[in-house]
Amino acid sequence: MEPLVELKAATKVYSRGATTLTALAGLSLAIPEGEFVAVVGPSGSGKSTLLHLCGALDRPTSGEVRIAGRSLGELDDDGLTRLRRDTIAFVFQFFNLLPTLSARENVELPALLAGRVEREVRADAARLLDEVGVGARRDHKPDELSGGELQRTAVARALIMRPRLLLADEPTGNLDSKTGDEILRLLRDVCASRGASVVMVTHDPKMAARADRVVSLKDGRLVGDVHNVKENAS
Ligand code: ADP
Ligand code: MG
Repeated sequence: MEPLVELKAATKVYSRGATTLTALAGLSLAIPEGEFVAVVGPSGSGKSTLLHLCGALDRPTSGEVRIAGRSLGELDDDGLTRLRRDTIAFVFQFFNLLPTLSARENVELPALLAGRVEREVRADAARLLDEVGVGARRDHKPDELSGGELQRTAVARALIMRPRLLLADEPTGNLDSKTGDEILRLLRDVCASRGASVVMVTHDPKMAARADRVVSLKDGRLVGDVHNVKENAS
C-alpha cells in the first residue's frame, strides 16, 4: 500500500532578498497509514518546515511530497486547500481556539464552514467532546478552561474533520508534564482507534519515546529514524 505521506529528496529553501536558507535538505521519509511519528531535533533543524510540507501548507522547492496519493507540486492552491480539508488536521502548542466561542462552538466551526449539516455537526461535536473528556465543560469559553481542557478541545476540533493525518507542533509544550502525558495518551488513543497517522514535533524525549517511531532532524537532514518497541501497559 502506498504510504500516507511520502517525501522524496524534499528540499525547502527560504529566500529573503539575496539571502537563502536551506531549511530541509533532500529529506526522504515515508509514513504509513496509522503510524504515530515523533519528530525531534534542535531548534532550527527544520521540524516545523517538515510539518508544513506534511500539512500541504507549502510546496517543496525541489524533490517531491506526496500525501494521500497526491503530489503537492501538481496541485494548485485550491487543490492544496481541498487536500488539507479532506485529509489533514492540526493541533498547536497554543491551542488556537477562538476566544469568543465556547468549546462546543470551536469544535463545530470547521465542520460548519465545510458545509456539513448542522444537526449532524452538533451531534458529532457532542460525541467528540465526551470522548476527549470535556463534555461537562462544553459551554465554557477558552478563558474558563485549563490548558489540558483547551488541548482536549483542540483535539476534538481536529477530529471532527475526520482526518487521515493529524499534525501536532509541540502539542504538550505549553502543559505541565502530567497534563502533557494525558494529552499524548489521548492523541495516541483517538488516532489509533480511527487508523489516523500522527506526526508530532516535540522537544521532550519522554513524549517521543511514546511514539511508534522517532525521526531526528539536524540542519534539515534526517540523522535518526528509530522504531520504538510498542508499549502496551500504558
Ligand atoms: P524548527 O521547527 O526545527 O525550529 P524550522 O523549520 O522552523 O525549524 O526552521 C528551519 C530553518 O528555516 C531555521 O533556520 C529558520 O530560521 C528558517 N525558516 C523557517 N521558516 C522560515 C521562513 N518563513 N522564512 C525564512 N526562513 C525560515
Ligand atoms: Mg519549530
